[in-house]
Amino acid sequence: MSLSVELLATGDELLTGQVVDTNSPWLMDRLWDAGVMVGRKTLVGDDREVLEAALRETTGRADLVIMSGGLGPTEDDLTAECVARVMGLPLEPHAPSLAAIAERFQRMGRTMTPNNAKQARFPRGATIHPNRWGTAPGFTVQLGRAALTCLPGVPAEYRGLAEEVVLPWVAARLGSAPAARVLKLLGLGESAADQAMRPVMDDPAHRGVRFGYRAHFPEVHLKWTVTGPGAEPRAAAIEAAVRALFGDAVWGSGKEELAALLVARLAARREKVALAESCTGGLLASLVTAVPGASAVLDLGVVAYANEMKTRVLGVEEALLGASGAVSEPVARALAEGARSIAGATWGLGITGIAGPDGGTPEKPVGTVHLALAGPGGTEAVARLYRGDRERVRRAAAFEALDLLRRALLR
Ligand code: ATP
Ligand code: MG
Repeated sequence: MSLSVELLATGDELLTGQVVDTNSPWLMDRLWDAGVMVGRKTLVGDDREVLEAALRETTGRADLVIMSGGLGPTEDDLTAECVARVMGLPLEPHAPSLAAIAERFQRMGRTMTPNNAKQARFPRGATIHPNRWGTAPGFTVQLGRAALTCLPGVPAEYRGLAEEVVLPWVAARLGSAPAARVLKLLGLGESAADQAMRPVMDDPAHRGVRFGYRAHFPEVHLKWTVTGPGAEPRAAAIEAAVRALFGDAVWGSGKEELAALLVARLAARREKVALAESCTGGLLASLVTAVPGASAVLDLGVVAYANEMKTRVLGVEEALLGASGAVSEPVARALAEGARSIAGATWGLGITGIAGPDGGTPEKPVGTVHLALAGPGGTEAVARLYRGDRERVRRAAAFEALDLLRRALLR
């Protein structure tokens, strides 16, 4: 069975560019995993007329409308009031919610003001969703042809209640549990991945399967959701086919993160990595240290931007810098070996390149990056020419360095 779902978000701040609507993409992603693609998303300000029109329109089209925001205590929080008016029903106080709000204020040592009581008033007949993450409960009503679920806009509250209320409701409505898979790739672009995926996507055996990409530069995430009978084995068969297509370009799946995976692998092997970065300016170290427990595998990460510092701090020979230039394979190797030996680590990673927009030459255009991995078996180096702006070149290089290490740990 299919389900048409629309999202509605309210808040002047969303239309003034002050706050980016992150609630909707988060829920779209979760719904996609559940086998539903959202049909439409509407953003409106805190304006009664516009909000009521949006409520009528969305609930006239969809089976399920999930609304974000406007449940707060202030004057511009209009959601419950507008929903009630569109329904032609009064707002009614909900004693358990009022008690929960009062208790929350007491627990936090704050005085409850009269306007907080507003958050315990709902359209008559609404199903109330207690909020364990904040003050304002959510609620669901039947309106038009839709079930309309209204959630607070604060992201932690929105997500908490969506997990608790919306996703189980959707799963129950869909009947069978869909099987969703995500495989994560590095080393090829989205269009190359799409091209390679064609035979799998066009296979009649996979008719009705929803395939998609999640751009996560420089990673490509391939996703598919299978619904109906035999969803699990069908999703597994597709996974086997996709893994066969892409080989070791697939570094992980599901919620895995590359840096976290590497930290865990290094820790399990009781090995450490040392980093020497130039053009990435610490981005590689930042990716590694973002992982809880990184200190078990990282003692040293150096940003050596100036040539003199590459020499003084990492022992890169001046002659090498003179002969090959700072952006060169020999210097990348020397950076990796220098970091490895100074830290006494099993592995050393070195990155040197031209992130742009200036500094390119015909021989070494912007995007030229040399990377090296020094390890027990010697040092390997790769040369790349990345396209894109400064940020993309830096990101591509930092992830490529992680990938060099990943591949070495597989061997
Ligand atoms: P509260 O009870 O805190 O007032 P609320 O339901 O009234 O919650 P809003 O007032 O609309 O929610 O938003 C509260 C805060 O949550 C906003 O200031 C904003 O920072 C954040 N927020 C609101 N909507 C979104 C959204 N769609 N995506 C991301 N953040 C949001
Ligand atoms: Mg508010």
